[in-house]
Amino acid sequence: MKTKLLRAADSAAAAEILRAGGLVAIPTETVYGLGANGLDAAAVEKIFAAKGRPQDNPLILHVKDASWLARYCEDVPPLAYALAERFWPGPLTMILRRREIVPDVTTGGLDTVGVRCPAHPATLAIIAAADLPVAAPSANTSGRPSCTTAADVMEDMDGKIEAVVDGGPCRVGVESTILDLTVQPPRLLRPGGLPLEELEQVCGAVEIDKAVVALLKPGEHPKAPGMKYRHYAPKAPVTVVTGDADCAAEYILDHIAPGGGVICFDEFAPLFAHYTVERLGSVFDKAEQARRVFDALRFFDHTGVSEIWAQCPDETGLGRAVANRLKKAAGFHVIDADRRDEKLC
Ligand code: AMP
Ligand code: MG
Repeated sequence: MKTKLLRAADSAAAAEILRAGGLVAIPTETVYGLGANGLDAAAVEKIFAAKGRPQDNPLILHVKDASWLARYCEDVPPLAYALAERFWPGPLTMILRRREIVPDVTTGGLDTVGVRCPAHPATLAIIAAADLPVAAPSANTSGRPSCTTAADVMEDMDGKIEAVVDGGPCRVGVESTILDLTVQPPRLLRPGGLPLEELEQVCGAVEIDKAVVALLKPGEHPKAPGMKYRHYAPKAPVTVVTGDADCAAEYILDHIAPGGGVICFDEFAPLFAHYTVERLGSVFDKAEQARRVFDALRFFDHTGVSEIWAQCPDETGLGRAVANRLKKAAGFHVIDADRRDEKLC
């Protein structure tokens, strides 16, 4: 199949492909999504095939606005509308009870469905023109870091899908925050582009799912099935070093092998001049770190590094999502520089 590169203005062409049951990669403010008609089981199955995604890992339905919630979800609580009012279009996915109209393949057989309204004009225009909810997981090959440019998508999907819509680089850079509204209190299933602190201003205390903070033991099942898979991982093994940034840098310098790679804050890059370095952005700029994190992880697959060490932001604001993606890329292989090497501080 020849994969077309469409311009952001070509919403009619993209909508036509979706209506005909094809696959189109769409830009969003978080990461690029691999879209299909979310109500068409055969079309949705093609997403799983193109990505090599496990069948039990459900997809997020992308909708035009909150007025579509009742079409696809049952028992929508007032809190869902309050959250949509405040944060949509934006990087918040809400888990709600699904209606029968949503096929099993879209929800991975669950009786719930994830719904989000993305904040990208091109994709909003495509959804409106298609007049369909667009099921779209991240557009990467399953297990690889997510795609934040159309070129990233081409790298993974060229020849496998009908088209990629180039909407420029993603403004947020990490996937949406996933909040389960079918439980009380609401539960954070995945930290993402909407910081927990902002969510809590609207819904009060939020419980954090265990799969967000640690590797699950065999037999443990996270509420977001996707959280159980090795994810975002470059080919070389990753070690994340948390704690004070100076301590983390010293720890890495002490332990890195020749031929190693480093993901570090801009301020520390000169320390690693003898290694392959990807900058994550300034230690003070978590928004930039979010935009950079997947690019940094993808970069190393074009190099021959034997191992990758990563500095990690603290878990406030967007730092929670950045830290989660780095730790998942590392299979939760994490060292706390503050505690392991107190003498350095
Ligand atoms: P991706 O778009 O690749 O980030 O994948 C979507 C994420 O949303 C995966 O981690 C899924 O497990 C999660 N997800 C989608 N639908 C649901 C649902 N109904 N319940 C829980 N998690 C979901
Ligand atoms: Mg994904």
